[in-house]
Amino acid sequence: MPLADIGVNLTDKRFAQDRDQVLSRARDADVALQVLTGTNIDVSRDALALCSDSSDLYATVGIHPHHASDFSTTTLADIRVLATAKKTRAIGETGLDFNRDFSPRPIQEKAFAEQLALAVELELPVFLHQRDAHERFLPILQEYRDRLCNVVVHCFTGTRQELFDYLDMDCHVGITGWVCDERRGEPLQKIVNNIPLNRLLIETDSPWLVPRNMDHKPKISGRNEPCLLPWIVRQLAVSMGQTETVIGDSTWENTLRFFRIT
Ligand SMILES: [Zn+2]
Repeated sequence: MPLADIGVNLTDKRFAQDRDQVLSRARDADVALQVLTGTNIDVSRDALALCSDSSDLYATVGIHPHHASDFSTTTLADIRVLATAKKTRAIGETGLDFNRDFSPRPIQEKAFAEQLALAVELELPVFLHQRDAHERFLPILQEYRDRLCNVVVHCFTGTRQELFDYLDMDCHVGITGWVCDERRGEPLQKIVNNIPLNRLLIETDSPWLVPRNMDHKPKISGRNEPCLLPWIVRQLAVSMGQTETVIGDSTWENTLRFFRIT
C-alpha cells in the first residue's frame, strides 16, 4: 500500500551523511510520495534541488516562524521565484510559534500574513505551523481563508476546540508521530477520530518525532525517517477505529488531491 509523507525535512544536516539510504529505505517501506518542507530560502532551494530528479519528491517553499526575523520584501520576492518551480506544491512552512518565540511575535504575524497573501495570489496550497498561538493564528488565517485553496495545519497537537476550529474552516489536518506517544500523545489519540477521512494527512516531520509505538529502535538513535511512516498509520488505525488500509488509502488520495499531484 503506497503511503504519502507530507512533511519531511530532508535537507536537515542529520541526513547529510546518508540521504540516499534514507530515501531508499523510505521507498522500500512503500512511502511512495514525500513532500519536503521548506523552512527558509536556502532550505527551500535545497529541497527543490533534491526533488528535481525524483518523481516521488515534491517541496514546499516558505519561511518558518522560527526564521520570521529574516523575512523581508527580498525574501518574499525569493519565495515568489521559487514558487514557480515545477516541483513546488505549496507555500510554507509558515505560521506562528509562540512556544519557542525564536522570532518576535509581531514579526511572525507579518511574515505569516504576507505568505498567506502570496499563496492567494499564486493560487497555491499552504502548509501551516501553529504552536501555542491558536488565538492569533485563527483570525489571521480567517482573513485569507476564503481566498485560499487548500490549507493544512501540519503536526497538529492541539485541543479538541482547536481541531474543530480548523475543521470548521475546511482545513486539512497533518498528524505526526506525536499521536504515537503513549504519554504526551494521549489527548490527541482521543480526538483524532473527529477528523473526517477526507481531511486527514500524515507526516513523519523527520528527523523529529520518532514514533514511540515502534517495536524496534531506529538505527540512528533519536532520528526519525520517512520509512517509519507506517507506525503513524498503525496508531491512527487504532485511535480512529479504522483499518490501516483505510488510513493509508485515504491519506494517499488526499495528498494527491491536496497538492495537485497527477
Ligand atoms: Zn512545523
